[in-house]
Amino acid sequence: MGDRTLQEDPLNVALADQWRLLDLQALDTRIDQLAHRRRTLPETATIAELAVRRDQVRDLLVAAETEDSDIARDQTKAEADVDQVRQRAERDQKRLDAGQVSSPKELESLQHEIASLAKRQADLEDAVLEIMERREAAQARIAELTAERDRIAADLERTEAALAAATAEIDAETEKVGGERATLAGGLPGELVALYEKVRASSNGLGAAALRRGRCEGCRMELSTTDLNKVRATPEDEVVRCEECRRILVRVADSGL
Ligand SMILES: [Zn+2]
Repeated sequence: MGDRTLQEDPLNVALADQWRLLDLQALDTRIDQLAHRRRTLPETATIAELAVRRDQVRDLLVAAETEDSDIARDQTKAEADVDQVRQRAERDQKRLDAGQVSSPKELESLQHEIASLAKRQADLEDAVLEIMERREAAQARIAELTAERDRIAADLERTEAALAAATAEIDAETEKVGGERATLAGGLPGELVALYEKVRASSNGLGAAALRRGRCEGCRMELSTTDLNKVRATPEDEVVRCEECRRILVRVADSGL
């Protein structure tokens, strides 16, 4: 059972003030809930997820753009190779057409070269086509990633605005409740508030609880008959503590006494 050795001097407070202490507790609980809600707004998690994806997409986009410029370089080189082969074939063809080559052996060699240049040009052109296909794929990837990047940026902007709005709403509500709390606390005996604060700090935010139908609403334990009798015998203006959780136990209409 509770720590019965730490008996403190009895604190005498009008029962009406003890009831108002429950109101103070309700306001503090509300402020704690608001703070919790502020810390756990779903927008915060969404923003973190979006930021991770944004960074991934940024890296993927850099990689895709690097790949694209590598392919572009390959394409330029392959096209230059094609040009070179075509020009050489054209030169050979002109020599052949001009009838400048008379020796049959040289003629055969030139015709052979023209044929092999044509084959080489066809191969190089195939290579250029293949490079162009790769480049199209790379550019499609860039377009896709760019669209995703823009979508994420828009989502982030929208979510950040929603977070700011939700936070502002919570802050306004916290300020309003905080004002009520200050007024209420200011009208209560200082010793009572001090004891309440002390207990609240070490009791999960709950410093005062009602005794309802024989049960402490702080720790949810039912008081023993002995403890109930003790509470019954205590003057109503004397602050009672729960033997179990040490919270300030406030007698109310349906305390079951
Ligand atoms: Zn209790």
